[in-house]
Amino acid sequence: MIKENVKKLLESLPEGVRLVAAVKTRTPEEILEAIQAGITIIGHNYVQEAEAGFSLIGRQAEWHLIGHLQSNKAKKAVGIFDMIETVDSFKLAGAIDKACRNMGRTMPVLIEINSGEEPQKAGVMPHDAASLIQEIASLKHVRIMGLMTMGPFTGDPEEARPYFQKTRAVFDDIAKSNIPGVKMEILSMGMSNSYQVAIEEGANMVRIGTKIFGERYAGQ
Ligand SMILES: *Cc1c(COP(=O)(O)O)cnc(C)c1O
Repeated sequence: MIKENVKKLLESLPEGVRLVAAVKTRTPEEILEAIQAGITIIGHNYVQEAEAGFSLIGRQAEWHLIGHLQSNKAKKAVGIFDMIETVDSFKLAGAIDKACRNMGRTMPVLIEINSGEEPQKAGVMPHDAASLIQEIASLKHVRIMGLMTMGPFTGDPEEARPYFQKTRAVFDDIAKSNIPGVKMEILSMGMSNSYQVAIEEGANMVRIGTKIFGERYAGQ
């Protein structure tokens, strides 16, 4: 099933839209099957869980962190991930920068936008994004490549559209302001139930779990 799901998805995505397989709770065998079917980017929510998978799978695919990162886990994350999609504070960016400096590398990151402006959720508020990006741009070992958003969870993909539009507007504003060292190339938004709407609103990276691997259990 995983193979067919990946093939169908890859065929259906417009050119230029990259697919991240969201692999939380999946086994290394399932992840490998997805890679064999053509997945080139895997997205992990947890550093710990990624570590286990990474030792088996290694660099057969690109690794993106798509879950919240605590600053004290930055060093570990930098050893595994090719991109961190969830930077939402200067403190976290600073911790990534420091870990990268010690390892002699630069980390491509996306800034996570709290497009639903929900106080309890991760991500920077849309109106604070520009100043945060200005600040992070001064770090030498972190390279901002674009934006990511989750949006509030809703069953109906149409309800996600305004949040994708809001994130796209921030993306366009930042791109126009030409901040030195900042690129606005990647707009990561949309999941299994909402990726088509996200693509209509400008996403060029979608993060899909259920539609590849099937339903998740244990309330995750
Ligand atoms: C789980 C997850 C996804 C994918 O969700 P599905 O509904 O299973 O496609 C995408 N992005 C993030 C950040 C996730 O945690």
